Amino acid sequence: MSRPKIVILGAGYGGLMTAKGLAKELNYNEAEITLVNQNSYHYFTTELHKPAAGTSHHDHARVSISSIINKRKVNFIQDRVTSIDIEKKTVHLDQHDPLAYDYLVVGLGSAPETFGIEGLLENAFFIRSINSVRMIREHMEYMFSRYQTEKKEELITIVVGGAGFTGIEYVGELVDRMPELCREYDIPLEKVRIVNIEAAPTVLPGFDQELVDYAVKYLESKGVEFKISTPIEKCTGESVIVKGGEEIRASTVVWTGGVRGNRLIEEAGIENMRGRVKVDQYLRAPGHDNIFVIGDSSLVINEEINRPYPPTAQISTQQGQYLGRSLVATLRGNELKTFQFDNKGTIASLGKKEAIGIVWGKKYYGWTASWLKRATDLRWLFLLGGVSLLLRKGRL
Ligand code: FAD
Ligand code: NAD
Repeated sequence: MSRPKIVILGAGYGGLMTAKGLAKELNYNEAEITLVNQNSYHYFTTELHKPAAGTSHHDHARVSISSIINKRKVNFIQDRVTSIDIEKKTVHLDQHDPLAYDYLVVGLGSAPETFGIEGLLENAFFIRSINSVRMIREHMEYMFSRYQTEKKEELITIVVGGAGFTGIEYVGELVDRMPELCREYDIPLEKVRIVNIEAAPTVLPGFDQELVDYAVKYLESKGVEFKISTPIEKCTGESVIVKGGEEIRASTVVWTGGVRGNRLIEEAGIENMRGRVKVDQYLRAPGHDNIFVIGDSSLVINEEINRPYPPTAQISTQQGQYLGRSLVATLRGNELKTFQFDNKGTIASLGKKEAIGIVWGKKYYGWTASWLKRATDLRWLFLLGGVSLLLRKGRL
């Protein structure tokens, strides 16, 4: 009898945890597991703001997939998924033959949400992948390198659109990077402008006010300009134009204004809201018992407030860990448990030595929060490859 085929799309936090869980539990004859990812490596999205600012090299934020999966149990295909045919239970790839599945796990992450704002897709940068952060750093450095000859202020002005967690963490890294970058290009530090523009009436909307105030005070003391209640309405390539018409000239515009689900989900005809699927308590797509959606492409409701949990690596990891176990139970005909998110808290870095956060209900800031953030980054590497990966990446 042929083995059931499990196909996992995306080697992010959710997809990798699913693959690792299945490989650990299942015997060879129980299932055929295939993992598809467009790159040969997994990147640590939670650390991408660092190479985007140039405070660390992008190689620190990635690891080769074949070095962390059990290749005897998981067949890894490096390719781009081009479509999902839910009628024929097939996934189409760019360079390989279509893949048939009995069970499909969709963990393709998110895409930038630009809300149709004119010029953003064409002119702004996004903190999304190794390639995108490499482009940001190199572009920014090139702009700085031109300043001595052209003396245009926009060359050394960086606009960050959106002051959510991604925006704030990126601005924190920029603050750390600027003294070195200015020395490199002989630019007085006080001439550089970092402008963080937020539509909502506060930075980090919805987060603890005391910690938000701490972050703003710290970043302002390092020269960051915040513009709140100021939605960006247009991005031209030389500037952004905000509500009311003010134009802020900047050669580097990084958009961190929000995320949506993956378009492949919409195109597949799976019920969704902006590419995100409201999954059931077993993480299944509505009406499809054999399709599981995890990570940023999924939407899990926090029953206490009747609103979705924010898409995070934390929930993606737990979903992957859960699905690894529950797919094994499904294959073996065992009773299924439901998925419960265990929210441990949120920490945002503000550069290397500063951070703010709430962990298990307790507030932290400064060095302690920064240390806790580092511990969460290390935990992810440990889950992926144990102590040997931590050593290999020079993190211990
Ligand atoms: P991802 O980790 O995004 O992985 C998706 C994978 O699918 C990628 O490898 C991608 O290349 C692949 N893929 C996509 N499309 C295709 C295709 N068509 N074909 C083949 N492969 C494809 N969350 C936290 O909990 N804590 C944090 O501290 C934190 N910090 C963050 C910092 C930054 C700068 C950012 C941007 C996000 C941060 N987040 C954090 C959010 C977190 O990174 C995401 O929620 C998490 O990465 C989602 O995981 P995922 O498994 O859904 O997808
Ligand atoms: P987000 O949706 O959390 O924040 C986007 C921000 O952009 C919001 O504050 C929004 O008001 C603002 N915005 C939207 N339109 C705008 C406009 N036209 N002009 C100006 N501002 C505008 O998005 P994010 O920060 O990319 O985060 C995405 C997800 O990743 C979230 O769930 C977040 O919790 C998670 N994340 C977590 C961490 C962490 O835990 N340390 C770090 C980064 C991201």
